[in-house]
Amino acid sequence: MEHVRPSTLDEALEGLAAPDAKALAGGQSLLPVMKLRIVRPSVLVDIGRLELGGVHMSENELRLGALTTWNELESAQELERPALAALAECASGIGDLQVRNRGTLGGSLAHADPASDMPAVVLALGAQIVLRAASGERTVSAEEFFLGPFTTALGPAELITEVVFPLVEGSGSAYVKVEHPASGFALAGAAAVVRPDGGQSVALTGMGGQAFLLASDANPVDALPDAEIYGDRFAPVEYRRHLAGVVARRALDRARERMEGTGE
Ligand SMILES: Cc1cc2nc3c(=O)[nH]c(=O)nc-3n(C[C@H](O)[C@H](O)[C@H](O)COP(=O)(O)OP(=O)(O)OC[C@H]3O[C@@H](n4cnc5c(N)ncnc54)[C@H](O)[C@@H]3O)c2cc1C
Repeated sequence: MEHVRPSTLDEALEGLAAPDAKALAGGQSLLPVMKLRIVRPSVLVDIGRLELGGVHMSENELRLGALTTWNELESAQELERPALAALAECASGIGDLQVRNRGTLGGSLAHADPASDMPAVVLALGAQIVLRAASGERTVSAEEFFLGPFTTALGPAELITEVVFPLVEGSGSAYVKVEHPASGFALAGAAAVVRPDGGQSVALTGMGGQAFLLASDANPVDALPDAEIYGDRFAPVEYRRHLAGVVARRALDRARERMEGTGE
């Protein structure tokens, strides 16, 4: 296996054009699957030197670079505002300190583990994901991005460069999960956004092949029987369905409290 460490985006995209090339960000998901020989890249393109980090806030939107780590998200002052609090709250509950120091936003979204936390938050906040290939740039909505377990709209020679969140002033957001006691991944996780016009969005993760948005403005518990829910030895279907209702209600309540300024 070849290991390259490009210093520009163009060089990285050139490296990714090789058959079976893989981008390496924080390595917290890729290295475990390489150790298990599930993935055997011909070229490992370490993107750690690229300038793809940072929390950039403007009047109408928040832009997060793909290499922004969980640690950076949980400590970013910009994410203290109620509208974006779900991002920091979610990041602070991922893995342990080491995982949060290395793991990146782009790596998590690209990996698309059905039990990972952040996909629910990007869905509920209505984020757009910016993808770059040698042929150019395109933007896909979070809803279009996740296609199934470990499957996304990302092409083999494409990189996530940043994730863009619309800023709805006056709204509140929250992320709540019941975590697997050993791994910390979500047995059931819910991200909620409540808007001053009365609108709300709820997205669930850990419950099916991919994170998904509940029908807009529906009572999340009523909407659940239509959702495909996984059962396994840690959480059978009925228990997971119950957890889904609990985390969705808690996330909505917390998001509303933040919007009204009555919560933390
Ligand atoms: C012990 C442990 C506990 C964890 N607990 C949790 C948890 O509770 N919740 C949770 O959600 N996650 C958890 N994780 C996963 C963690 O969040 C990972 O950091 C994350 O899933 C992947 O990010 P990474 O930067 O490490 O990506 P990498 O491992 O480097 O890459 C993962 C995949 O994404 C691709 N990739 C990386 N960056 C890009 C990019 N910019 N564009 C395109 N493709 C890219 C890689 O090619 C690879 O296929 C845990 C991991 C560990 C090891």
